[in-house]
Amino acid sequence: MCKIVREFPPLCRECSALLLPPTCTDSVAIAECRRCHEKYACFLPGWLPTADEELIKYYSNNVGALTFEFGHSFWSAVALAREYYNKFTDEAYCRSIGIPTQNDEFFWHEGGGMASRIHYYLVVGGDPDPHRFIDWRTEHNRLKRAERDRLKGL
Ligand SMILES: [Zn+2]
Repeated sequence: MCKIVREFPPLCRECSALLLPPTCTDSVAIAECRRCHEKYACFLPGWLPTADEELIKYYSNNVGALTFEFGHSFWSAVALAREYYNKFTDEAYCRSIGIPTQNDEFFWHEGGGMASRIHYYLVVGGDPDPHRFIDWRTEHNRLKRAERDRLKGL
C-alpha cells in the first residue's frame, strides 16, 4: 500500500530512514523507504488534463479513499480516478448518459465524496441519474455504519 503525499517527506515517517530515489510513471512518482519498505506516492502534473496543480494534489486523495473504503488496489484506484476525471469532464460523454458535465470546481466542491461517485459510476455501473447515485450512497453509508456497529459489539 502507498501513502499518498503532496510531496515526499525528507525521511520515512514510519522509521526515519532515507527514501530511495522515486520511480515515476506518467502519473505518479513512488518513493520507497530503504529500511521498512513503506511506499510514498506523489501525483504528477501530467496525471490529469488540468492546469490546476492544487486540484491534482487534492483529487489524488480519492485514490486513497478508493483503496480504504472500496478495497481497490492502489494501481486500479489510480486508473479509476483518472478515468472518471477524463469521462466526466467530457461534454459528449456526460450528454450521452444525461448528466451535467463536471469540472474542477465540481471536484473541489465534492471533496471526500468523490470516491463514492467514482466507485458507483465506474465499478457498480449504477443508473447514471444523480438521484439514484444519492440513493445508492445513502444505502452504502447505512450498511457501512451497521457493519461498524456490528464490529464494535463483538
Ligand atoms: Zn521506513
